Amino acid sequence: MKLIYTVREMQAWADEQRSAGRRIGLVPTMGALHAGHLALVREAARRADEVVVSIFVNPTQFVQGEDFDRYPRTLEADLRALVETGHSVTVFAPPDEEMYPGGQAANRTWVTVEGLDAHLCGRHRPGHFRGVTTVVARLFLVAKPHVAVFGLKDAQQFVILRRMVRDLHFDVEMVGMPTVREADGLALSSRNVYLNPREREQAVVLSQAVEAARQRVEAGEQEAGVIVETMRLTLARAPEGRVQYAEVVDAETLQPIDRIEPGQEVLAAVAVFFGSTRLIDNAFVQAPPAP
Ligand code: AMP
Repeated sequence: MKLIYTVREMQAWADEQRSAGRRIGLVPTMGALHAGHLALVREAARRADEVVVSIFVNPTQFVQGEDFDRYPRTLEADLRALVETGHSVTVFAPPDEEMYPGGQAANRTWVTVEGLDAHLCGRHRPGHFRGVTTVVARLFLVAKPHVAVFGLKDAQQFVILRRMVRDLHFDVEMVGMPTVREADGLALSSRNVYLNPREREQAVVLSQAVEAARQRVEAGEQEAGVIVETMRLTLARAPEGRVQYAEVVDAETLQPIDRIEPGQEVLAAVAVFFGSTRLIDNAFVQAPPAP
């Protein structure tokens, strides 16, 4: 395993691989790696000759009052988990100063994708996606990947990044992978470690809610309001959960819809707080075609 800390070294390594004709696959992460991240690493290894995993808790995507300071940082365990995949992985783990010289307050260059953050997480975490697009654009310019692999667990993030790649003509193939789950359906997340046993048990309602939405849409329900109500009823089974949103939006524009058209792809998504821990889940669903 190769460990790289600086932008310059990362770029030099990427240039070497590229001039040797080797394809680079990038998996951006904030560390605290779990089986969901490792599935992305395996997919990157399938699609590229060299896999780069970036481990960087990106300060600019945390909104004021969020868990930046207490976000789990487990570099040694992360490196062990990557070794155990059996793939040869290059880890890029820059200090904040490398990615944001002079610190976040001194940063003057941002990448924003307008409009797609008006709903879902973007509506409740102002500035979050600007931080994500800014850091991923930098990671693309530093690790120079041919292909980048992301989880669809963060569906809005994926849709926004895909749009950024299209609009800025990044020559990077974008791959979105299905959400890896616990046996009871809970989506794996680095933040699950914050849950106490009672909350952990109740957190199963998120996956149940989006699954109920999927079934409704696939059965031909066209009223988005009915689907939202179905999700809310399911979420209400968790007495300690505090729902932040339950929404049905168009899968590409991420704008809310009233009536789902035949054949339309939608995204059903929820966010729920347990204490101060915020969990999300979602499903892309294709409505049945017109009869
Ligand atoms: P994070 O470290 O949380 O920023 O996530 C890094 C990448 O892993 C993102 O592309 C996430 O969407 C993806 N990811 C996180 N959790 C899962 C999961 N349960 N299944 C699949 N991918 C995931």
